[in-house]
Amino acid sequence: MKFSLKILLCMIIVMALALGFSGYYFVNYVFETSVEREVGQALDESSILGFAFETAALSVPATYSVLPDSTVEEIAANLEKSGQGSGRLIRIADEGKNVLYASDGFETDEQLLALTDENTKAYQITQVGNKYYIHTGTAVISLNRILYLETMRDVSEVFKEREMGFSLYRKVTLVMLLSGIIIMHFISSFLTKPILLLTQATKQMAAGDYSYRAKQVSRDELGQLTLDFNRMAETLEKNIIQLEEEIEAKEEFMGAFAHELKTPLTAIIGYADMLRSHKLDEEQRLMSSNYIYTEGKRLEAMSLRLLDIIVAGKKEAVLQTISAEAVFDYLKDMFTGSGEMEFLFQYDEGEITAEVNLIKTVLVNLIDNACKASETGGKIEVNGYALQDGYRFAVKDYGIGIPEEEQHKITQAFYMVDKSRARSRNGAGLGLALCTEILKIHNSELEIESETGKGSCFSFVLPYDVSMQTKEGGDENDEARD
Ligand code: ADP
Repeated sequence: MKFSLKILLCMIIVMALALGFSGYYFVNYVFETSVEREVGQALDESSILGFAFETAALSVPATYSVLPDSTVEEIAANLEKSGQGSGRLIRIADEGKNVLYASDGFETDEQLLALTDENTKAYQITQVGNKYYIHTGTAVISLNRILYLETMRDVSEVFKEREMGFSLYRKVTLVMLLSGIIIMHFISSFLTKPILLLTQATKQMAAGDYSYRAKQVSRDELGQLTLDFNRMAETLEKNIIQLEEEIEAKEEFMGAFAHELKTPLTAIIGYADMLRSHKLDEEQRLMSSNYIYTEGKRLEAMSLRLLDIIVAGKKEAVLQTISAEAVFDYLKDMFTGSGEMEFLFQYDEGEITAEVNLIKTVLVNLIDNACKASETGGKIEVNGYALQDGYRFAVKDYGIGIPEEEQHKITQAFYMVDKSRARSRNGAGLGLALCTEILKIHNSELEIESETGKGSCFSFVLPYDVSMQTKEGGDENDEARD
């Protein structure tokens, strides 16, 4: 059963009970008040009749010492007549409670008569046929006699009014319940709307639409629940997008990896086949085995690079503090010897906190790339800036540059802007991927500025406050070294 229907049902039950009880109480209260009033009037009337009887009895001739029965009957008949039209019924009994006179229609037992005595007035409500009466009894003392006067006052109207009250209230209850159902239906729909919207949202999400959000229609607890649900959905969506991107990246990586393996393997297989199935002269044999060797070496270098990337991605940096000067000295020694390019090293004094060998690997890769992108003799600037929050390294060349749309892709493994050019320079598209992984564990990232035909500048900032754990030693360190 729907929640809104349950609320509706509960409200109807509560309303029906409330209306039923209040109606019953109200009608009964009115009835009891009316009966009380009628009883009061009946008792008053009985007293007045008693007094009238006693007054009438005073006019009996003085010859009688005791009021005769015939006079009693006469006075009673007169009293009844004087009240004609009011539906008054009377009955008179003597000392022995034997009935001397009774109006027509005074048809009731003598129980009340038995209860009445000189000092006690009594009354009861009696039903005769479908009529209701208030039956009273009182003693009348007149001319040495004690007589008992009973009256019956018709109160059927009061009972009829009670019945009418109940019937009217039943109708009113029914109308109020019907209109209440309509109003309560709207109220329960309004109250349960946030739940309905949340259910819709969960269904949409279960069907794979993670961007769907539930609309917030109230500011109460359910509104807060909607907000929390939407926040949860947002996190879920982000995680799913991230997962999808990771899967996509992995697939791309596998595709590129297979492709990169194919080229050297095809050459190796081809030359090996030539060696085993043809008779080759010394020169051809040397050439074939040389191809196999160089392509094999390329594969080896590639697998070592991949290993470096995997290791760098999984490890934590083992931090050391070293002067920027020491790093630049190392780079100068490494690159200025050949004299193929024009190197310019400029740096601010300062200290860096990093896993030094890994940072040297990054810089060597960047300088190597700058050399590959430049003509022989081209200028390459390697700069160091001591900033407020960290030390910035920048490698700038004036070579071929990178098209803007390619710039965000070059840090992906195996990505090369110009594949044949990269391969001819022993590139496999893994250097920048390795740099990215190394910088990630140093809380840093690569910034690329480049313009086609004008050159590129690769830079990164090593924060002084590296909030990473410092460990002593570390064997993987050596594996990741160039
Ligand atoms: P590799 O140099 O082994 O090919 P990298 O990951 O180091 O692989 O570089 C990926 C690609 O980015 C290179 O193939 C090259 O096309 C491009 N690239 C990197 N550095 C530069 C640069 N300084 N100038 C122009 N292109 C560059």
